[in-house]
Amino acid sequence: MAEVAVVGSGPNGLAAAVVMARAGLAVRVYEAAETFGGGTRTAELLEPGHVYDVCSAVHPMALASRFFRNFELERRVELRLPEVQYGTPLDGGRAALAYRSLERTSFELGADGAAFTRLMGPLVEQLGGVLDVTQNHLLRMPANPVAALRLGLATLEQGSPWWNQRFSGDAAPALLTGAAAHAVAPLPSLAAAGAGLLLGALAHAGGWPMPVGGSVAIADAMVRDIEDHGGLVETGVRIDSLEELRPAKAILLDVAPPALLRMAGTALPGRYRRSLETFRFGNAACKVDFILSSPVPWAAPGLANAGTVHVGGTRADLAEAENLVAAGRHPRKPYVLVAQPSIVDPGRAPAGRHILWSYCHVPKGSTVDMAEAVISRIEEFAPGFRDVVVAWKTTTAAGLADYNANYSGGDFSAGIMDVRGLVQRPVLSPVPWRTPLPGVYLCSSSTPPGPGVTGMPGYHAAKYALKDIFGLRVPELGLGA
Ligand SMILES: Cc1cc2nc3c(=O)[nH]c(=O)nc-3n(C[C@H](O)[C@H](O)[C@H](O)COP(=O)(O)OP(=O)(O)OC[C@H]3O[C@@H](n4cnc5c(N)ncnc54)[C@H](O)[C@@H]3O)c2cc1C
Repeated sequence: MAEVAVVGSGPNGLAAAVVMARAGLAVRVYEAAETFGGGTRTAELLEPGHVYDVCSAVHPMALASRFFRNFELERRVELRLPEVQYGTPLDGGRAALAYRSLERTSFELGADGAAFTRLMGPLVEQLGGVLDVTQNHLLRMPANPVAALRLGLATLEQGSPWWNQRFSGDAAPALLTGAAAHAVAPLPSLAAAGAGLLLGALAHAGGWPMPVGGSVAIADAMVRDIEDHGGLVETGVRIDSLEELRPAKAILLDVAPPALLRMAGTALPGRYRRSLETFRFGNAACKVDFILSSPVPWAAPGLANAGTVHVGGTRADLAEAENLVAAGRHPRKPYVLVAQPSIVDPGRAPAGRHILWSYCHVPKGSTVDMAEAVISRIEEFAPGFRDVVVAWKTTTAAGLADYNANYSGGDFSAGIMDVRGLVQRPVLSPVPWRTPLPGVYLCSSSTPPGPGVTGMPGYHAAKYALKDIFGLRVPELGLGA
Protein backbone atom coordinates (compact mmCIF):
# COMPACT_ATOMS: atom_id res chain seq x y z
CA MET A 1 0.00 0.00 0.00
CA ALA A 2 1.27 3.46 -0.93
CA GLU A 3 2.27 6.01 1.72
CA VAL A 4 0.28 8.62 -0.18
CA ALA A 5 -3.13 8.08 -1.77
CA VAL A 6 -4.54 10.69 -4.14
CA VAL A 7 -8.20 10.42 -5.17
CA GLY A 8 -8.95 12.05 -8.53
CA SER A 9 -6.59 12.77 -11.41
CA GLY A 10 -7.67 16.28 -12.37
CA PRO A 11 -4.86 18.84 -12.66
CA ASN A 12 -5.00 19.40 -8.90
CA GLY A 13 -4.85 15.72 -7.94
CA LEU A 14 -1.98 15.22 -10.37
CA ALA A 15 -0.16 18.35 -9.09
CA ALA A 16 -0.45 17.03 -5.53
CA ALA A 17 0.82 13.61 -6.67
CA VAL A 18 3.78 15.19 -8.54
CA VAL A 19 4.84 17.09 -5.41
CA MET A 20 4.49 14.03 -3.13
CA ALA A 21 6.29 11.68 -5.56
CA ARG A 22 9.10 14.19 -6.07
CA ALA A 23 9.52 14.24 -2.27
CA GLY A 24 10.45 10.56 -2.50
CA LEU A 25 7.16 9.15 -1.20
CA ALA A 26 5.31 6.15 -2.64
CA VAL A 27 2.25 7.63 -4.37
CA ARG A 28 -0.84 6.03 -5.88
CA VAL A 29 -3.53 8.02 -7.71
CA TYR A 30 -7.05 6.56 -8.01
CA GLU A 31 -9.27 7.90 -10.80
CA ALA A 32 -12.93 6.91 -11.18
CA ALA A 33 -13.07 7.49 -14.94
CA GLU A 34 -11.49 5.19 -17.51
CA THR A 35 -8.93 7.87 -18.46
CA PHE A 36 -6.94 10.28 -16.28
CA GLY A 37 -6.92 14.06 -16.50
CA GLY A 38 -10.23 15.34 -15.03
CA GLY A 39 -10.82 18.73 -16.66
CA THR A 40 -7.74 18.31 -18.90
CA ARG A 41 -8.98 15.42 -21.04
CA THR A 42 -9.00 15.54 -24.84
CA ALA A 43 -11.14 13.24 -27.00
CA GLU A 44 -12.61 12.65 -30.45
CA LEU A 45 -16.09 13.70 -29.41
CA LEU A 46 -17.83 13.69 -32.78
CA GLU A 47 -15.95 11.92 -35.59
CA PRO A 48 -12.56 10.22 -35.78
CA GLY A 49 -9.71 12.67 -36.39
CA HIS A 50 -11.57 15.64 -34.83
CA VAL A 51 -9.90 16.29 -31.48
CA TYR A 52 -11.66 18.30 -28.74
CA ASP A 53 -10.83 19.38 -25.26
CA VAL A 54 -13.66 17.90 -23.24
CA CYS A 55 -13.36 20.66 -20.60
CA SER A 56 -10.49 23.17 -20.40
CA ALA A 57 -8.97 24.39 -23.67
CA VAL A 58 -7.11 27.67 -23.11
CA HIS A 59 -4.33 27.99 -20.54
CA PRO A 60 -3.27 31.47 -19.41
CA MET A 61 -3.64 30.23 -15.83
CA ALA A 62 -1.41 27.20 -16.31
CA LEU A 63 1.26 29.34 -17.96
CA ALA A 64 1.30 31.73 -15.01
CA SER A 65 0.87 29.18 -12.21
CA ARG A 66 3.68 28.85 -9.68
CA PHE A 67 3.27 25.08 -9.67
CA PHE A 68 3.50 24.78 -13.46
CA ARG A 69 6.41 27.25 -13.65
CA ASN A 70 8.36 25.17 -11.12
CA PHE A 71 7.33 22.06 -13.06
CA GLU A 72 8.69 23.72 -16.26
CA LEU A 73 5.50 22.99 -18.15
CA GLU A 74 6.67 24.99 -21.15
CA ARG A 75 9.64 22.63 -21.63
CA ARG A 76 7.38 19.57 -21.47
CA VAL A 77 4.34 20.64 -23.51
CA GLU A 78 4.25 22.72 -26.68
CA LEU A 79 2.02 25.68 -25.89
CA ARG A 80 1.07 27.77 -28.92
CA LEU A 81 -0.14 31.36 -28.85
CA PRO A 82 -2.59 32.83 -31.36
CA GLU A 83 -1.90 36.28 -32.79
CA VAL A 84 -4.96 37.66 -30.98
CA GLN A 85 -5.26 36.34 -27.42
CA TYR A 86 -8.99 37.03 -27.13
CA GLY A 87 -11.61 39.22 -28.70
CA THR A 88 -15.23 40.33 -28.58
CA PRO A 89 -17.25 40.97 -31.76
CA LEU A 90 -19.37 44.11 -31.86
CA ASP A 91 -21.99 45.35 -34.32
CA GLY A 92 -21.07 46.75 -37.71
CA GLY A 93 -18.31 44.17 -38.30
CA ARG A 94 -16.20 45.62 -35.48
CA ALA A 95 -14.35 43.76 -32.74
CA ALA A 96 -12.38 44.61 -29.61
CA LEU A 97 -9.14 42.62 -29.68
CA ALA A 98 -6.59 41.82 -26.97
CA TYR A 99 -3.04 41.28 -28.20
CA ARG A 100 -0.06 40.32 -26.11
CA SER A 101 1.13 43.84 -26.70
CA LEU A 102 -0.79 46.18 -24.39
CA GLU A 103 0.31 49.10 -26.59
CA ARG A 104 -1.26 47.58 -29.74
CA THR A 105 -4.40 46.63 -27.80
CA SER A 106 -4.81 50.16 -26.46
CA PHE A 107 -3.98 51.74 -29.82
CA GLU A 108 -6.77 49.79 -31.54
CA LEU A 109 -9.22 50.70 -28.75
CA GLY A 110 -8.98 54.31 -29.99
CA ALA A 111 -10.29 57.01 -27.67
CA ASP A 112 -10.48 54.62 -24.69
CA GLY A 113 -6.99 53.22 -25.27
CA ALA A 114 -5.27 55.48 -22.73
CA ALA A 115 -7.88 54.68 -20.05
CA PHE A 116 -7.49 50.94 -20.79
CA THR A 117 -3.70 51.24 -20.40
CA ARG A 118 -4.10 53.12 -17.10
CA LEU A 119 -6.29 50.26 -15.81
CA MET A 120 -4.33 47.27 -17.10
CA GLY A 121 -0.77 48.65 -17.26
CA PRO A 122 -0.05 48.58 -13.50
CA LEU A 123 -1.43 45.03 -13.20
CA VAL A 124 0.77 43.80 -16.05
CA GLU A 125 3.82 45.61 -14.63
CA GLN A 126 3.24 44.13 -11.16
CA LEU A 127 2.01 40.74 -12.34
CA GLY A 128 4.15 38.90 -9.78
CA GLY A 129 2.30 40.66 -6.97
CA VAL A 130 -1.06 40.10 -8.65
CA LEU A 131 -0.32 36.37 -8.97
CA ASP A 132 0.75 36.24 -5.33
CA VAL A 133 -2.78 37.35 -4.40
CA THR A 134 -4.65 35.22 -6.94
CA GLN A 135 -2.67 31.96 -6.55
CA ASN A 136 -2.82 31.83 -2.78
CA HIS A 137 -5.52 32.02 -0.13
CA LEU A 138 -7.13 35.47 0.04
CA LEU A 139 -6.92 35.20 3.87
CA ARG A 140 -3.22 35.99 3.93
CA MET A 141 -0.91 39.02 3.98
CA PRO A 142 0.05 39.74 0.36
CA ALA A 143 3.76 39.61 -0.46
CA ASN A 144 3.48 42.81 -2.50
CA PRO A 145 0.93 45.10 -0.78
CA VAL A 146 1.20 47.77 -3.50
CA ALA A 147 0.27 45.30 -6.26
CA ALA A 148 -2.50 43.89 -4.05
CA LEU A 149 -3.86 47.40 -3.50
CA ARG A 150 -3.79 48.16 -7.23
CA LEU A 151 -5.64 44.91 -7.98
CA GLY A 152 -8.10 45.66 -5.17
CA LEU A 153 -8.86 49.19 -6.41
CA ALA A 154 -9.21 48.05 -10.04
CA THR A 155 -11.52 45.22 -8.89
CA LEU A 156 -13.63 47.65 -6.84
CA GLU A 157 -14.02 49.90 -9.88
CA GLN A 158 -14.73 47.18 -12.47
CA GLY A 159 -16.92 45.25 -10.04
CA SER A 160 -19.20 48.18 -9.22
CA PRO A 161 -21.92 50.20 -10.96
CA TRP A 162 -19.15 52.76 -11.77
CA TRP A 163 -17.42 50.30 -14.08
CA ASN A 164 -18.04 52.54 -17.14
CA GLN A 165 -16.77 55.76 -15.60
CA ARG A 166 -13.40 55.82 -17.35
CA PHE A 167 -14.66 54.81 -20.81
CA SER A 168 -16.61 56.64 -23.53
CA GLY A 169 -16.89 53.94 -26.27
CA ASP A 170 -18.18 50.35 -26.24
CA ALA A 171 -15.05 48.41 -27.28
CA ALA A 172 -12.87 48.55 -24.13
CA PRO A 173 -15.79 47.75 -21.77
CA ALA A 174 -16.85 44.81 -23.99
CA LEU A 175 -13.27 43.49 -24.05
CA LEU A 176 -13.01 43.62 -20.24
CA THR A 177 -16.46 42.13 -19.68
CA GLY A 178 -15.83 39.26 -22.07
CA ALA A 179 -12.97 38.17 -19.79
CA ALA A 180 -14.84 38.94 -16.54
CA ALA A 181 -17.83 36.83 -17.57
CA HIS A 182 -15.67 33.67 -17.35
CA ALA A 183 -16.43 33.77 -13.62
CA VAL A 184 -20.09 32.61 -14.01
CA ALA A 185 -21.19 35.41 -11.69
CA PRO A 186 -23.51 38.41 -11.83
CA LEU A 187 -22.16 41.47 -13.67
CA PRO A 188 -20.82 43.71 -12.37
CA SER A 189 -19.51 41.88 -9.30
CA LEU A 190 -16.23 41.78 -7.43
CA ALA A 191 -15.52 38.11 -8.21
CA ALA A 192 -16.12 38.61 -11.94
CA ALA A 193 -14.07 41.82 -12.03
CA GLY A 194 -11.14 40.17 -10.23
CA ALA A 195 -11.20 37.16 -12.57
CA GLY A 196 -11.47 39.39 -15.64
CA LEU A 197 -8.61 41.68 -14.61
CA LEU A 198 -6.38 38.69 -13.88
CA LEU A 199 -7.19 37.02 -17.21
CA GLY A 200 -6.78 40.36 -19.01
CA ALA A 201 -3.38 41.01 -17.45
CA LEU A 202 -2.26 37.46 -18.32
CA ALA A 203 -3.12 38.09 -21.99
CA HIS A 204 -0.58 40.95 -22.05
CA ALA A 205 2.04 38.92 -20.16
CA GLY A 206 2.45 35.29 -21.32
CA GLY A 207 -0.74 35.21 -23.42
CA TRP A 208 -3.58 32.69 -23.66
CA PRO A 209 -1.95 29.56 -25.13
CA MET A 210 -3.34 26.21 -26.26
CA PRO A 211 -1.33 22.99 -26.03
CA VAL A 212 -0.52 21.12 -29.23
CA GLY A 213 -2.66 17.98 -29.20
CA GLY A 214 -5.04 19.40 -26.60
CA SER A 215 -5.15 19.87 -22.84
CA VAL A 216 -4.46 16.18 -22.24
CA ALA A 217 -0.81 17.01 -23.04
CA ILE A 218 -0.70 18.77 -19.64
CA ALA A 219 -2.12 15.72 -17.84
CA ASP A 220 0.22 13.40 -19.79
CA ALA A 221 3.25 15.43 -18.69
CA MET A 222 2.22 15.19 -15.04
CA VAL A 223 1.42 11.45 -15.18
CA ARG A 224 4.82 10.80 -16.82
CA ASP A 225 6.54 12.70 -14.04
CA ILE A 226 4.63 10.81 -11.32
CA GLU A 227 5.54 7.47 -12.93
CA ASP A 228 9.16 8.52 -13.44
CA HIS A 229 9.30 9.11 -9.68
CA GLY A 230 7.87 5.74 -8.75
CA GLY A 231 4.17 6.66 -8.51
CA LEU A 232 1.20 4.85 -10.04
CA VAL A 233 -1.97 6.23 -11.63
CA GLU A 234 -4.89 3.77 -11.66
CA THR A 235 -7.98 4.56 -13.71
CA GLY A 236 -11.45 3.03 -13.45
CA VAL A 237 -11.23 3.00 -9.62
CA ARG A 238 -13.90 4.99 -7.81
CA ILE A 239 -13.22 5.52 -4.11
CA ASP A 240 -16.32 5.60 -1.91
CA SER A 241 -14.81 5.45 1.56
CA LEU A 242 -11.60 6.67 3.17
CA GLU A 243 -11.31 3.21 4.73
CA GLU A 244 -10.39 1.87 1.26
CA LEU A 245 -7.24 4.02 1.39
CA ARG A 246 -5.87 3.12 4.81
CA PRO A 247 -3.12 2.60 5.86
CA ALA A 248 -1.89 5.43 3.56
CA LYS A 249 -0.33 8.06 5.83
CA ALA A 250 -1.49 10.95 3.64
CA ILE A 251 -4.74 11.10 1.68
CA LEU A 252 -5.24 13.94 -0.81
CA LEU A 253 -8.72 14.30 -2.24
CA ASP A 254 -9.26 15.99 -5.62
CA VAL A 255 -12.99 15.87 -4.96
CA ALA A 256 -15.78 18.32 -4.14
CA PRO A 257 -17.24 18.58 -0.60
CA PRO A 258 -20.22 16.21 -1.17
CA ALA A 259 -17.77 13.41 -2.05
CA LEU A 260 -15.68 14.07 1.08
CA LEU A 261 -18.90 13.85 3.13
CA ARG A 262 -19.72 10.49 1.57
CA MET A 263 -16.19 9.11 1.90
CA ALA A 264 -15.72 10.13 5.54
CA GLY A 265 -19.07 8.81 6.77
CA THR A 266 -19.66 9.89 10.37
CA ALA A 267 -15.97 10.49 11.09
CA LEU A 268 -16.13 14.25 10.40
CA PRO A 269 -16.78 16.51 13.40
CA GLY A 270 -20.17 18.26 13.38
CA ARG A 271 -19.11 21.84 12.61
CA TYR A 272 -16.89 20.90 9.66
CA ARG A 273 -19.53 18.48 8.41
CA ARG A 274 -22.16 21.25 8.46
CA SER A 275 -19.83 23.54 6.45
CA LEU A 276 -19.52 20.85 3.80
CA GLU A 277 -23.27 20.16 3.84
CA THR A 278 -24.00 23.84 3.21
CA PHE A 279 -21.21 24.32 0.64
CA ARG A 280 -22.60 26.43 -2.20
CA PHE A 281 -22.19 25.52 -5.86
CA GLY A 282 -22.59 28.09 -8.61
CA ASN A 283 -24.28 28.11 -11.98
CA ALA A 284 -23.18 25.93 -14.82
CA ALA A 285 -22.18 25.51 -18.45
CA CYS A 286 -23.76 23.90 -21.49
CA LYS A 287 -21.01 22.90 -23.93
CA VAL A 288 -21.41 22.72 -27.71
CA ASP A 289 -18.60 21.29 -29.85
CA PHE A 290 -18.69 21.73 -33.63
CA ILE A 291 -17.19 20.30 -36.79
CA LEU A 292 -16.92 23.08 -39.40
CA SER A 293 -16.22 22.89 -43.13
CA SER A 294 -14.34 26.21 -43.02
CA PRO A 295 -13.18 28.68 -40.38
CA VAL A 296 -15.91 30.76 -38.71
CA PRO A 297 -16.86 33.57 -41.15
CA TRP A 298 -16.50 36.34 -38.57
CA ALA A 299 -17.64 39.74 -39.87
CA ALA A 300 -14.72 41.38 -38.03
CA PRO A 301 -11.52 40.15 -39.73
CA GLY A 302 -9.28 40.20 -36.60
CA LEU A 303 -11.32 37.43 -34.97
CA ALA A 304 -10.06 34.88 -37.50
CA ASN A 305 -6.75 35.01 -35.59
CA ALA A 306 -8.22 34.97 -32.08
CA GLY A 307 -7.72 31.87 -29.96
CA THR A 308 -10.69 32.78 -27.79
CA VAL A 309 -13.77 34.79 -28.77
CA HIS A 310 -16.31 36.10 -26.26
CA VAL A 311 -19.54 36.29 -28.25
CA GLY A 312 -22.38 38.33 -26.84
CA GLY A 313 -22.14 41.98 -27.87
CA THR A 314 -21.60 45.01 -25.68
CA ARG A 315 -20.92 45.15 -21.96
CA ALA A 316 -24.63 45.77 -21.35
CA ASP A 317 -25.61 42.76 -23.52
CA LEU A 318 -23.10 40.49 -21.77
CA ALA A 319 -24.29 41.67 -18.35
CA GLU A 320 -27.91 41.07 -19.30
CA ALA A 321 -27.16 37.48 -20.36
CA GLU A 322 -25.09 36.70 -17.26
CA ASN A 323 -27.59 38.31 -14.88
CA LEU A 324 -30.39 36.19 -16.37
CA VAL A 325 -28.33 33.07 -15.58
CA ALA A 326 -27.70 34.41 -12.05
CA ALA A 327 -31.49 34.74 -11.71
CA GLY A 328 -31.90 31.07 -12.69
CA ARG A 329 -33.01 31.66 -16.29
CA HIS A 330 -31.73 30.57 -19.71
CA PRO A 331 -30.83 33.61 -21.85
CA ARG A 332 -32.24 33.58 -25.37
CA LYS A 333 -29.08 35.49 -26.38
CA PRO A 334 -26.37 33.91 -24.21
CA TYR A 335 -22.76 34.93 -23.63
CA VAL A 336 -20.87 32.30 -25.64
CA LEU A 337 -17.25 31.42 -24.94
CA VAL A 338 -15.62 30.16 -28.14
CA ALA A 339 -12.16 28.65 -28.66
CA GLN A 340 -10.69 28.13 -32.15
CA PRO A 341 -7.94 25.55 -31.53
CA SER A 342 -7.50 24.68 -35.22
CA ILE A 343 -5.94 28.10 -35.89
CA VAL A 344 -2.86 27.31 -33.77
CA ASP A 345 -3.01 23.50 -33.94
CA PRO A 346 -4.25 22.40 -37.39
CA GLY A 347 -3.72 18.76 -36.41
CA ARG A 348 -6.93 18.88 -34.36
CA ALA A 349 -9.02 18.31 -37.52
CA PRO A 350 -8.52 16.52 -40.85
CA ALA A 351 -7.61 18.62 -43.93
CA GLY A 352 -10.53 20.79 -45.02
CA ARG A 353 -12.20 20.57 -41.61
CA HIS A 354 -12.06 22.75 -38.47
CA ILE A 355 -13.20 22.20 -34.93
CA LEU A 356 -14.86 24.78 -32.72
CA TRP A 357 -15.18 24.49 -28.93
CA SER A 358 -17.84 26.55 -27.19
CA TYR A 359 -19.99 26.80 -24.12
CA CYS A 360 -22.50 29.16 -22.62
CA HIS A 361 -23.64 29.65 -19.05
CA VAL A 362 -26.90 28.17 -17.79
CA PRO A 363 -28.55 27.74 -14.38
CA LYS A 364 -27.20 24.89 -12.23
CA GLY A 365 -28.67 21.49 -12.99
CA SER A 366 -29.98 22.61 -16.40
CA THR A 367 -30.93 19.92 -18.89
CA VAL A 368 -31.57 22.45 -21.67
CA ASP A 369 -29.72 21.94 -24.97
CA MET A 370 -28.46 25.44 -25.84
CA ALA A 371 -27.05 24.52 -29.29
CA GLU A 372 -29.61 26.54 -31.25
CA ALA A 373 -29.10 29.65 -29.06
CA VAL A 374 -25.31 29.29 -29.40
CA ILE A 375 -25.48 28.91 -33.18
CA SER A 376 -27.80 31.93 -33.52
CA ARG A 377 -25.57 34.06 -31.29
CA ILE A 378 -22.44 33.23 -33.31
CA GLU A 379 -24.35 33.73 -36.60
CA GLU A 380 -25.18 37.33 -35.53
CA PHE A 381 -21.48 38.20 -35.61
CA ALA A 382 -20.46 35.66 -38.27
CA PRO A 383 -23.13 35.63 -41.00
CA GLY A 384 -23.04 32.28 -42.80
CA PHE A 385 -21.81 30.38 -39.72
CA ARG A 386 -24.81 28.06 -39.83
CA ASP A 387 -23.82 27.01 -43.38
CA VAL A 388 -20.31 25.88 -42.38
CA VAL A 389 -21.52 23.76 -39.46
CA VAL A 390 -21.15 20.08 -40.41
CA ALA A 391 -22.12 18.56 -37.06
CA TRP A 392 -22.26 19.39 -33.39
CA LYS A 393 -22.54 17.74 -30.02
CA THR A 394 -24.12 19.24 -26.92
CA THR A 395 -23.19 18.40 -23.35
CA THR A 396 -25.80 19.91 -21.05
CA ALA A 397 -25.01 21.08 -17.52
CA ALA A 398 -26.55 17.88 -16.19
CA GLY A 399 -24.34 15.96 -18.63
CA LEU A 400 -21.22 17.72 -17.29
CA ALA A 401 -22.24 16.71 -13.76
CA ASP A 402 -22.58 13.09 -14.90
CA TYR A 403 -19.20 13.31 -16.62
CA ASN A 404 -17.36 14.54 -13.53
CA ALA A 405 -18.69 14.22 -9.97
CA ASN A 406 -16.81 17.41 -8.99
CA TYR A 407 -19.00 19.53 -11.31
CA SER A 408 -22.13 19.41 -9.15
CA GLY A 409 -25.10 20.57 -11.22
CA GLY A 410 -22.64 21.41 -14.02
CA ASP A 411 -20.69 23.96 -11.93
CA PHE A 412 -17.18 23.44 -13.31
CA SER A 413 -15.73 25.86 -10.76
CA ALA A 414 -16.63 23.27 -8.09
CA GLY A 415 -17.94 26.03 -5.85
CA ILE A 416 -19.67 29.37 -6.29
CA MET A 417 -17.60 32.31 -7.51
CA ASP A 418 -18.43 35.12 -5.12
CA VAL A 419 -16.26 36.76 -2.49
CA ARG A 420 -17.59 34.55 0.31
CA GLY A 421 -17.25 31.47 -1.87
CA LEU A 422 -13.62 32.31 -2.61
CA VAL A 423 -12.67 32.99 1.02
CA GLN A 424 -14.72 30.21 2.62
CA ARG A 425 -13.58 27.42 0.29
CA PRO A 426 -14.86 25.10 1.71
CA VAL A 427 -14.32 26.45 5.26
CA LEU A 428 -13.12 29.72 6.77
CA SER A 429 -9.59 28.72 7.80
CA PRO A 430 -6.05 29.90 7.12
CA VAL A 431 -5.31 26.33 5.93
CA PRO A 432 -8.56 25.21 4.26
CA TRP A 433 -6.80 22.28 2.54
CA ARG A 434 -6.49 20.49 5.92
CA THR A 435 -9.54 18.56 7.06
CA PRO A 436 -10.15 17.74 10.74
CA LEU A 437 -9.25 14.10 9.96
CA PRO A 438 -5.55 13.45 10.57
CA GLY A 439 -3.69 12.91 7.31
CA VAL A 440 -6.67 13.82 5.09
CA TYR A 441 -6.45 16.88 2.81
CA LEU A 442 -8.81 18.37 0.24
CA CYS A 443 -6.91 19.43 -2.91
CA SER A 444 -9.58 20.16 -5.57
CA SER A 445 -10.68 23.52 -6.93
CA SER A 446 -13.22 23.56 -4.08
CA THR A 447 -10.20 24.91 -2.13
CA PRO A 448 -8.18 28.11 -2.76
CA PRO A 449 -7.28 29.58 -5.11
CA GLY A 450 -10.28 27.96 -6.89
CA PRO A 451 -10.98 26.93 -10.48
CA GLY A 452 -8.79 26.86 -13.58
CA VAL A 453 -5.95 24.61 -14.62
CA THR A 454 -3.35 25.95 -12.18
CA GLY A 455 -2.46 22.93 -10.06
CA MET A 456 -2.29 25.41 -7.16
CA PRO A 457 -4.96 23.85 -4.87
CA GLY A 458 -3.09 20.54 -5.26
CA TYR A 459 0.27 22.22 -4.67
CA HIS A 460 -0.92 23.93 -1.47
CA ALA A 461 -2.53 20.74 -0.10
CA ALA A 462 0.62 18.72 -0.83
CA LYS A 463 2.79 21.41 0.79
CA TYR A 464 0.85 21.08 4.07
CA ALA A 465 0.67 17.28 3.90
CA LEU A 466 4.45 17.10 3.43
CA LYS A 467 5.06 19.44 6.36
CA ASP A 468 2.43 18.03 8.77
CA ILE A 469 2.98 14.31 8.24
CA PHE A 470 6.50 13.84 6.91
CA GLY A 471 8.31 16.97 8.13
CA LEU A 472 9.36 17.66 4.54
CA ARG A 473 9.42 20.76 2.35
CA VAL A 474 8.22 21.05 -1.25
CA PRO A 475 10.99 19.58 -3.41
CA GLU A 476 12.36 20.84 -6.73
CA LEU A 477 9.87 20.04 -9.51
CA GLY A 478 11.83 20.99 -12.62
CA LEU A 479 13.18 18.71 -15.34
CA GLY A 480 16.73 18.91 -14.07
CA ALA A 481 15.85 17.91 -10.50
C1 LIG B 1 -16.46 23.09 -20.26
C2 LIG B 1 -15.30 23.53 -19.40
C3 LIG B 1 -14.40 24.44 -19.89
C4 LIG B 1 -13.29 24.84 -19.11
N1 LIG B 1 -12.37 25.69 -19.67
C5 LIG B 1 -11.24 25.98 -18.99
C6 LIG B 1 -10.17 26.64 -19.64
O1 LIG B 1 -10.22 26.90 -20.84
N2 LIG B 1 -9.06 26.95 -18.90
C7 LIG B 1 -8.94 26.59 -17.58
O2 LIG B 1 -7.90 26.89 -16.94
N3 LIG B 1 -9.94 25.93 -16.94
C8 LIG B 1 -11.08 25.59 -17.62
N4 LIG B 1 -12.06 24.84 -17.03
C9 LIG B 1 -11.96 24.56 -15.59
C10 LIG B 1 -10.98 23.45 -15.26
O3 LIG B 1 -11.17 22.35 -16.11
C11 LIG B 1 -11.17 23.04 -13.78
O4 LIG B 1 -11.11 24.18 -12.95
C12 LIG B 1 -10.08 22.06 -13.36
O5 LIG B 1 -10.10 20.90 -14.17
C13 LIG B 1 -10.28 21.65 -11.90
O6 LIG B 1 -9.28 20.71 -11.59
P1 LIG B 1 -9.43 19.68 -10.37
O7 LIG B 1 -8.20 18.86 -10.36
O8 LIG B 1 -9.79 20.44 -9.13
O9 LIG B 1 -10.70 18.79 -10.68
P2 LIG B 1 -11.14 17.99 -11.98
O10 LIG B 1 -10.35 18.41 -13.15
O11 LIG B 1 -12.60 18.16 -12.03
O12 LIG B 1 -10.76 16.48 -11.68
C14 LIG B 1 -11.35 15.74 -10.65
C15 LIG B 1 -11.14 14.28 -10.95
O13 LIG B 1 -11.47 13.51 -9.80
C16 LIG B 1 -12.16 12.35 -10.20
N5 LIG B 1 -12.96 11.87 -9.07
C17 LIG B 1 -13.95 12.55 -8.44
N6 LIG B 1 -14.46 11.78 -7.45
C18 LIG B 1 -13.76 10.61 -7.45
C19 LIG B 1 -13.82 9.42 -6.64
N7 LIG B 1 -14.69 9.28 -5.66
N8 LIG B 1 -12.95 8.43 -6.91
C20 LIG B 1 -12.02 8.54 -7.92
N9 LIG B 1 -11.95 9.64 -8.71
C21 LIG B 1 -12.80 10.67 -8.47
C22 LIG B 1 -13.01 12.83 -11.37
O14 LIG B 1 -13.40 11.74 -12.20
C23 LIG B 1 -12.03 13.77 -12.07
O15 LIG B 1 -11.24 13.09 -13.03
C24 LIG B 1 -13.14 24.37 -17.79
C25 LIG B 1 -14.05 23.42 -17.30
C26 LIG B 1 -15.10 22.99 -18.10
C27 LIG B 1 -16.03 21.93 -17.59
